[in-house]
Amino acid sequence: MNVKCSKCNKEAIIFQKYSGMHLCKKHFIEDVERKIKLTIRKHFNIQKNDIIAVALSGGKDSAVLLFMLHKIFDKRPDIELIAITIDEGIDGYREHTLKTAKELTAKLGVRHIIRSFEDEFDTTLDEITAKEREKGACSYCGVLRKTLLNKTAIEVGATKLATGHNLDDEAQTILLNHLRGEVSRMVKLAQPHTLEGLVLRAKPLRFIPEKEVALYALVNDLPVDFSECPYAHEAIRGEVRDMLNDFEVAHPGTKYSLLKGFDTMAPIISKEYTDIELAKCRICGQACSLGICQACKLLGRE
Ligand code: SF4
Ligand SMILES: [Zn+2]
Ligand SMILES: [Zn+2]
Repeated sequence: MNVKCSKCNKEAIIFQKYSGMHLCKKHFIEDVERKIKLTIRKHFNIQKNDIIAVALSGGKDSAVLLFMLHKIFDKRPDIELIAITIDEGIDGYREHTLKTAKELTAKLGVRHIIRSFEDEFDTTLDEITAKEREKGACSYCGVLRKTLLNKTAIEVGATKLATGHNLDDEAQTILLNHLRGEVSRMVKLAQPHTLEGLVLRAKPLRFIPEKEVALYALVNDLPVDFSECPYAHEAIRGEVRDMLNDFEVAHPGTKYSLLKGFDTMAPIISKEYTDIELAKCRICGQACSLGICQACKLLGRE
């Protein structure tokens, strides 16, 4: 027997355990879009003449992000969207996601910039991990990608940098920081504020569960690559993800609670950890809080 939508008589395509609602395609799309618009309005203060750089990997999250931002701002000639894809040099993986990223930007008519670790850092993630096993691949990848994204966003004159982090990503990061006792990292995760040398970050999907991002991509027929990075299994994040998913099944709404609780707590923590003063890295000139940036440190440029 088909289950009916809680808002109309049509067939439901999803059951949101945390809200108790069954939703049809139309009402599911409306629900996701309403949450994203609300997050943008409440937290990301889009202003006239903003240039929004969008980190686009080619996976479902960033595809949904670009699609939604395009849908919202397409009729605002003063707002420009620029998609940025970083090619880390992960053989057998990144070439597939790059292809779908190109397909999506062409379909939407959004300017697309592709930058690679190879051109910027003179090495690839595969080369780094073949030599260096002190830290997991994701540590190198994350730091270098963030650096290159920020640098490229500055180069194109972007005033905001949007990333596709969803509710699961955010909840995992919050829990990970707790488990590691890394309070200073929590401050960085708090709602963004302006810091010189860094383009203001925006995460419009932070209240959408990963499963719903995937379904939204599917029902809108977005070109998305679902292949998994070969290094993904190395991350401790995987354990936290499984733990949170189990918890969510037993106690629906856990991920939302974690994020909402964090958002309430974050301004209080931020007061204790007053603004980090940013200086310029003495090697590459990027903004950083110590004399040398994380990227240069990881690349052994000291
Ligand atoms: S899983 Fe890790 S190595 Fe792979 S793209 Fe993500 S951060 Fe980079
Ligand atoms: Zn409906
Ligand atoms: Zn540097």
